[in-house]
Amino acid sequence: LALAGLLTLLLFINNQWHDAVSGKTFPTINPATGEVICQVAEADEADVEKAVKAARDAFRLGSPWRRMDASHRGLLLNRLANAIERDAAYLATLDNGKPYAVSYTVDIPNVVKCLRYYAGWADKWEGKTIPIDGDYFCYTRHEPIGVCGQIIPWNFPLLMQAWKLGPALATGNTVVMKVAEQTPLTALYVASLIKEVGFPEGVVNILPGMGPSAGAAIARHMDVDKVAFTGSTEVGHLIQQASGSSNLKKVTLELGGKSPNIILSDANMEDAVEQSHFALFFNQGQCCCAGSRTFVQADIYDEFVERSVERAKRRVVGNPFDLKTEQGPQVDQEQFNKILGYVSSGKREGAKLMCGGGVAADRGYFIQPTVFGDVQDNMTIAREEIFGPVMQIFKFKTVEEVLTRANDTKYGLAAAVFTKDIDKANYVSSGLRAGTVWINCYDVFGAQAPFGGYKASGTGRELGEYGLDNYTEVKTVTIKVPQKNS
Ligand code: NAD
Ligand code: MG
Repeated sequence: LALAGLLTLLLFINNQWHDAVSGKTFPTINPATGEVICQVAEADEADVEKAVKAARDAFRLGSPWRRMDASHRGLLLNRLANAIERDAAYLATLDNGKPYAVSYTVDIPNVVKCLRYYAGWADKWEGKTIPIDGDYFCYTRHEPIGVCGQIIPWNFPLLMQAWKLGPALATGNTVVMKVAEQTPLTALYVASLIKEVGFPEGVVNILPGMGPSAGAAIARHMDVDKVAFTGSTEVGHLIQQASGSSNLKKVTLELGGKSPNIILSDANMEDAVEQSHFALFFNQGQCCCAGSRTFVQADIYDEFVERSVERAKRRVVGNPFDLKTEQGPQVDQEQFNKILGYVSSGKREGAKLMCGGGVAADRGYFIQPTVFGDVQDNMTIAREEIFGPVMQIFKFKTVEEVLTRANDTKYGLAAAVFTKDIDKANYVSSGLRAGTVWINCYDVFGAQAPFGGYKASGTGRELGEYGLDNYTEVKTVTIKVPQKNS
């Protein structure tokens, strides 16, 4: 750490470290203390230009990357997974503020699994032979799209990097990745591992920088073939627009949510309380799929609220490096202020503050675990993504009613239902307009299972076999043959 303070971390282009063309740097901050960790080179349009050229050159016909066996791409991804696993103790994050134990036991193992999962796909992503009419032989090839821009957020810095790199590299694309300005450190360390394990020059380029400059330059670039974005819905609109007004690059978006978590009166109370607490508070509440609207059936409402408040009060907030800590600081001052603003709006608009609501430490961006009861559907805290440790509990009477209310949102990322009745579970899960539905559980992810949003929560799916589609062009090749036979 002391050493890091003396360093400026650089941009990763063509397997080399570069200062920003402008010479600019920005500080990266430890959210537990508000102190500067080190300076990082700040990419801008000129650096995006260099990175796109490198990625384009790495993608040229006949390049080492284009000539590489698919199985070897898989091998490189496996080696990257191994290197990350080897250095897990070091990579568990500092700049994000999440508890070290969570980073070490949740984030990193999932990063490794994701890369290994896609490593396996590299030589198994097969096209088809197709029996078209006439004397022809017809087949499809699954080809890489080309140069992929990838813009990622700060809430799971390593995992979002792996979700993006895994499918892109397994399918043979090249990458220009802009990492979030709040969390550049681990991404740059992974860049050094990418070089170490032998990815050819220019295949992966990693640029820390700001959204409106470096991010926007990728989104509007005429020589970027595809952009994948994870972050706010607001910026999702800008990315889609930038594609529309530049080269119609393919766009995949993974945006926010206001995910309903429905507790029916027959649910196991203890599990439902614990899982609903986890659904909202995990990762300091900074999850795109957070269960941020907890709907509880009327006859169990009072007990559920009481137990949830009791659980929230027990949540251990503090130093991310203390292994007992469940909740660290929010990622930065901006998110901290925004969340406290939502708490004020909840109070102002008449929701019942049951616990928390304030600042949890005299330095750093810590917020008390907060629970609001009696939340009404039209309140700001019921409609907007808070992205913090603030739980909203709603009361409902019938299943029909709660389905309508749960779907009354512009979002559709995730949802959950807790019940022992399989018929009700099936009915509710098929009625929910969301890309993921959990039944009697929450935040269960697997690299094998697709994840993504309905409605304004995004387009496309990440993870699983479906995740490969977003990085593939399908080419139909038709050959005239003298005479076909069935
Ligand atoms: P953001 O959408 O501004 O940032 C996400 C990424 O997009 C970052 O890398 C950022 O630099 C980049 N970006 C920002 N503006 C851009 C632009 N004009 N063009 C291209 N790229 C741009 O999110 P934020 O400001 O960090 O957080 C705001 C809210 O977004 C949060 O409160 C939360 O509600 C939501 N959010 C969602 C996710 C998610 O996982 N879906 C992640 C982070 C934040
Ligand atoms: Mg922003």
